[in-house]
Amino acid sequence: MPEIAEAENPDFTITIGTTGLAEPYSFYEGETLTGFDIELMQRFALWANAELVIEVYDWGGIISACASGKVDYIMSNLFITEERSEAIDFSVPYRTIETVMVVADTAATAAAGSGSFLEDLSSSFEKTFIRENRWKLILNGLLVTLEIAFLSGFFGTILGFGLCLLIRSRRKLISVPANAFCRLMKGIPSLVVLMFIYFVVFASSSLGAIPIAILSFSLIFAVAVSRILNTGISSVSQGQQEASAALGFRKTGTFLHVVFPQAILHVLPLYKEEFVAMLQLTSIVGYISIQDLTKAGDIIRSRTYEAFFPLIATAVIYFLISAAITFAVGRIELGLDPHRRPRRLPKGVKESKSPARQAGWKAAPAAAAQTQAADAGQTQEELIRIEHLKKVYPNATPLKDVNTSVRRGEVITIIGPSGTGKSTLLRCLNRLETPTEGSITVFGKNICENHTDLTAIRRQMGMVFQSFNLFEHLTIVENIMLAPTLLNRQPKQEAYENAIRLLKTVGLAEKALNYPDELSGGQKQRVAIARTLAMNPQIILFDEPTSALDPTMVGEVQNVIRQLAAEGMTMLIVTHEMKFARDVSTRIFYMDQGVIYEDGTPEELFEHPKKDRTRAFVKRLKVLSFTISGPDYDFVAMEEALQQFGEKHRLPLRRQDALCYAFEEICATNIIPNQAQEYLVQVSTEYSEDTDTLEMRFEWGGRRYNPMEEGETISILLVKAFLKDAVYTYENEENRLVVTL
Ligand code: ADP
Repeated sequence: MPEIAEAENPDFTITIGTTGLAEPYSFYEGETLTGFDIELMQRFALWANAELVIEVYDWGGIISACASGKVDYIMSNLFITEERSEAIDFSVPYRTIETVMVVADTAATAAAGSGSFLEDLSSSFEKTFIRENRWKLILNGLLVTLEIAFLSGFFGTILGFGLCLLIRSRRKLISVPANAFCRLMKGIPSLVVLMFIYFVVFASSSLGAIPIAILSFSLIFAVAVSRILNTGISSVSQGQQEASAALGFRKTGTFLHVVFPQAILHVLPLYKEEFVAMLQLTSIVGYISIQDLTKAGDIIRSRTYEAFFPLIATAVIYFLISAAITFAVGRIELGLDPHRRPRRLPKGVKESKSPARQAGWKAAPAAAAQTQAADAGQTQEELIRIEHLKKVYPNATPLKDVNTSVRRGEVITIIGPSGTGKSTLLRCLNRLETPTEGSITVFGKNICENHTDLTAIRRQMGMVFQSFNLFEHLTIVENIMLAPTLLNRQPKQEAYENAIRLLKTVGLAEKALNYPDELSGGQKQRVAIARTLAMNPQIILFDEPTSALDPTMVGEVQNVIRQLAAEGMTMLIVTHEMKFARDVSTRIFYMDQGVIYEDGTPEELFEHPKKDRTRAFVKRLKVLSFTISGPDYDFVAMEEALQQFGEKHRLPLRRQDALCYAFEEICATNIIPNQAQEYLVQVSTEYSEDTDTLEMRFEWGGRRYNPMEEGETISILLVKAFLKDAVYTYENEENRLVVTL
């Protein structure tokens, strides 16, 4: 190659595209691009007084480069066809060449490989790396690959994070386009994305190929990152977010301190794989005139005509980088994995030297103040007022019209059949559910209004959940310290000592440095209570605190709640444990039919319930009711229903017969024929599993008539043989007969 001067004051620039892979036209000698084509263009540029820029493209990209104006000329042995001439201009041929076929020659191959294995290997090594300083090509390629991969990884991660937030946005206007963009990107091969951005989007831009490659891979990687991040975030249970919100964290705080640290544990293994996949994908950048590691291998192969060694060398280098990335991310993963972290005190905390202050939550200043206030006769202070509360879900309306108020120091248990809105009511109180209508005033503020600072109210109104919802990524003591240090700005040491004191109170001080999944259900629930208490709440809501527990652990949690009740804590407790409800409460709400159906002291509700539904529920009664509206009633159907009722509750045959006799003799033979007018007769049969009592009641209007005394003698004698007791009353023109069978 002769020395050809460059134009000194060039008038313009000529950019040529070439492959760099075709000796003797365009090829690399060491790091220098050379060959007939290159020499010709250098002479041409000098003649035209132009500056020459040479871009090296893969075959697949070179025509697009010319068509899009990225290069002015292509220097390569292209054949002129009619159809091609429609798209680009060809010069007249400047050189005619002989072209050959390549034939596999086993003899020649054998001769070439006649040395020992080691000799062959060292010869290949010399050709690939040493000759013409080709290692420099590999090194430069490697640096380019690393630059593209790591910068794309960096920007892609940031972009992916943003994209994930857009996808998760509640506003359709944002989430739908973001989702559509991801789908579009996922549906297009990466090579097409790269070529499209380079040759179409940035066709006329002077932005270099490497920044464009970084942009393209950042976008490709961002889509992958947003997907795995989204999956990671979704894998953090809703309960964790609710627990955080109930402590008083805002959405950002919940995301940063609760959701993200847990999501990242799920995300990292996938992230690592995606990153390695993206690194390998960067090998397509040769299409847009970038000499990366793969391209360096191509260039060397085109010179040596030896495929094996350069390919192995490239493969080994890619493998080593991938392994290094996997290792590095793996280390981060290990560092974050709660179970592998050493059990240390939280950062910035010292084991207190003075013996921990006496256990008991009374020691907490706010609780103390609260008790004093209670002592000062302020027990009547109203903390919560609920008016016309209604909650509608698409398929259910659990709350229709709830009205009540809660005063300081009250312990209210909410009981009732499943699905009657007990949990919904509790969750409306701290706005984990948004009421459809009505108002809820807590500490004098209407929490249904949008401008009310919910978090301030939640900080003073703790909530304990059925499924505990401890933060899985934090130790027990960190779980308790999280909200006081971040939300109440309590100094760490103080928060720690308070946490240990609370843990002692619930009997779990020795578990301070364990993680939640190392505790039993009962222990977790006691920690959850301690976590709530650490905020010094004025009210605590308990949503079925013992339902998820083994029967053996129910007692330990109930005892903690009993202790709190004894200290005067205001509490609302949804529970199915009737004995507990009776012992612990000052007031009970029986919920049914979308309202607080009956409200009273435990004694009133359990001993003298005013309404039938309440009675049936608290006495755990099985009930069968029907109404007879005249003499034409279907006697057979009713006898059958009674029989089925008896069978369903596994009553002995004698009692099943007694049911039918009682109905037949009392109602059919006496009450109905003796009515002066046609009145409705209500018949209800109640069976209590608890006490094994079977009762039948008959209620009808009209004149006073006691069938047990005035009825047909034989029939009454017959039925009396089956009865244990019969009580007749007549009040407000209503006859009522209750027989026990
Ligand atoms: P309870 O605590 O008395 O068993 P809940 O308050 O849990 O009852 O539920 C009352 C009713 O509201 C049920 O029918 C339930 O299916 C429905 N419900 C509760 N939460 C939701 C929700 N998030 N979306 C739709 N329906 C719900």
